Amino acid sequence: MAMKQFKAESKRLLDLMINSIYTHREIFLRELISNASDAIDKLYYKTLTSGDTGLNRADFYIELKPDKEKRTLTITDNGCGMTKEELENNLGTIAKSGSLNFKKDNEPKEDIEIIGQFGVGFYSAFMVSDHVTVISKAYGSDEAYRWESSGAEGYTIEPCEKESHGTTIILNIKPDTEENHFDEYLDTYTLKNLVRKYSDYIRYPIKMDVEKTRLKEKPKDVEEKEGEHKDEYETYVETETLNSMVPLWRKNRNEVKAEEYNEFYKSKFNDYQDPALVIHSSTEGTATYKALLFIPARAPFNFYTRDYEKGLQLYSNGVMIMEKCADLLPDYFSFVRGLVDSQDLSLNISREMLQHDRQLKLIAGRLEKKIKSELESMLEKDREKYENFFKNFGLQLKYGVYQDYGLHKEVLQDLLLFYSSSEKKMVTLKEYVSRMKEGQKFIYYACGDSVEHVEQLPQTEAVKEKGYEILYLTDDVDEFAVRMLMKYDDKEFKSVSADDLGLETEEEKKEAAKKVEENKDMLNFMKEALDGKVKQVILSQRLKTHPVCLSTGGAISIEMEKVLNALPNQEKVSAERVLEINANHPIFQKLCDLYQNDKDTLKQYASLLYTQALLIEGVKIDNPLEFSNQICELMTK
Ligand code: ADP
Repeated sequence: MAMKQFKAESKRLLDLMINSIYTHREIFLRELISNASDAIDKLYYKTLTSGDTGLNRADFYIELKPDKEKRTLTITDNGCGMTKEELENNLGTIAKSGSLNFKKDNEPKEDIEIIGQFGVGFYSAFMVSDHVTVISKAYGSDEAYRWESSGAEGYTIEPCEKESHGTTIILNIKPDTEENHFDEYLDTYTLKNLVRKYSDYIRYPIKMDVEKTRLKEKPKDVEEKEGEHKDEYETYVETETLNSMVPLWRKNRNEVKAEEYNEFYKSKFNDYQDPALVIHSSTEGTATYKALLFIPARAPFNFYTRDYEKGLQLYSNGVMIMEKCADLLPDYFSFVRGLVDSQDLSLNISREMLQHDRQLKLIAGRLEKKIKSELESMLEKDREKYENFFKNFGLQLKYGVYQDYGLHKEVLQDLLLFYSSSEKKMVTLKEYVSRMKEGQKFIYYACGDSVEHVEQLPQTEAVKEKGYEILYLTDDVDEFAVRMLMKYDDKEFKSVSADDLGLETEEEKKEAAKKVEENKDMLNFMKEALDGKVKQVILSQRLKTHPVCLSTGGAISIEMEKVLNALPNQEKVSAERVLEINANHPIFQKLCDLYQNDKDTLKQYASLLYTQALLIEGVKIDNPLEFSNQICELMTK
């Protein structure tokens, strides 16, 4: 029989899995039981909706069967089973989306993260076994197939006999080594504990034959002689149900341990890290539902890509009706994982109908409020945790502010954090406003690629000199979001590069205007020399020690220009640039002299100053060679 190869990526992941130093090997059981439960869910759902399977809820089960002699652990379910194609597709490929991007540079340390990215799943079987056999018969089919693999070399599939629908997985447990006691996975006591620890909430019985001992009943007719009294024991086998079968979300919050929530989350949503936040709520009234929501500790590897699909699992009275119901979550909370169980939803409801379902909309609205208030309370009570959350998902919140023309800004504005020039850490808008100085009219912000870059921008000088705090906007979306907000607490946002910073008194303004008037001709000359590159050359109000900077008139800033022009298929935009010269800097006097005596050199200087301003701004210059030549010319003069 031909050995089939795993897809290259799968093979790699499998290798990692087999050789991993993963300490939590025991979770393989959780994964396999969870798959079995999902498979039963699928068939049970069919039973309920089409009603012609002849099966009852009570017919379903999962069974564990350890065999110490053969060194096998067998896990059986009577769920939907798999066809030959499904065996091939589901077990021959990992990461179906094909969006694998292994970090090649720092492999060994990252093993667990790579595994974690894909969820451990079925392949975790190879952490404890050196050979895996899957025998499966799809419901409604009369063919069964056997899938077998000893790991990375490949797998085989052949027809076989199986009486009824469902899947049986036989694990050949690895031999013991000094560090690893694989034997324990053949031990009923260990298995019992693992089921309690990881899979207690599974809604179908997980059964196992457990060997027990009892006192042997003495035959009545035998007379016992004095001193010969001896108890005799006998062993017998009893089939036990190992799990309580109560879904976690149906329990009372105070009955559930933090560990149970964490294990549930990890098995259900394929994460290897505990969640950052658990939200368990139960609501009655106009909408009756139970929700169990989680915020991951870390953004999934594909979170900020098109591959990521938002949504919550949807249950109707304990029966899963949809794997990912997108309508339950707004885009800006798309990072939330979890489930909703409601008796108000019909089992047979279709995807299309759900979209218009009033009840579902009500639930979605409630959940949004709940998530928001939980985040606010995290922000208030555990700042460090919130900041970590924001590192992972803050970008999504900022997109949310920008989305739909600012429709959701009220919901989100108090959840935002920006780096503060004066506090040297992330701050909220509320905190900023509470610290505003007397006479300060605006919430100031400055944009750049990084905190270090913004810190150095000459444009920030005047605002800093006043002792005003500046928010540093370092993500592409930031300025778009802030512009969408327009105001917070009635205070307008103002870029440090905007025309009027609102810093000068009327007196100072007049003074400045006078100075511009006096130098009008020279400034105009410089503007002409720059040949359309700038809208204006002016004497700066914002520069204190630096000679030159750029500012913008109009609606588009230089940062926004950078971002918009980097987008594919977007018409190119350009900011209205204004070149600002510091009249208190020695360069100004030099320019005045040149205007009187050497206009050709002034032309060159105008171009040099403009290029310098671009470099400070972090904008790519058109002609670096020309710039370099000009500088050398000056150096050799
Ligand atoms: P995941 O469960 O995250 O999809 P797995 O690697 O654990 O990933 O499983 C891959 C797929 O194989 C499942 O999505 C399911 O379709 C199928 N599968 C696994 N175990 C079973 C089972 N016991 N019965 C039916 N199908 C199964």
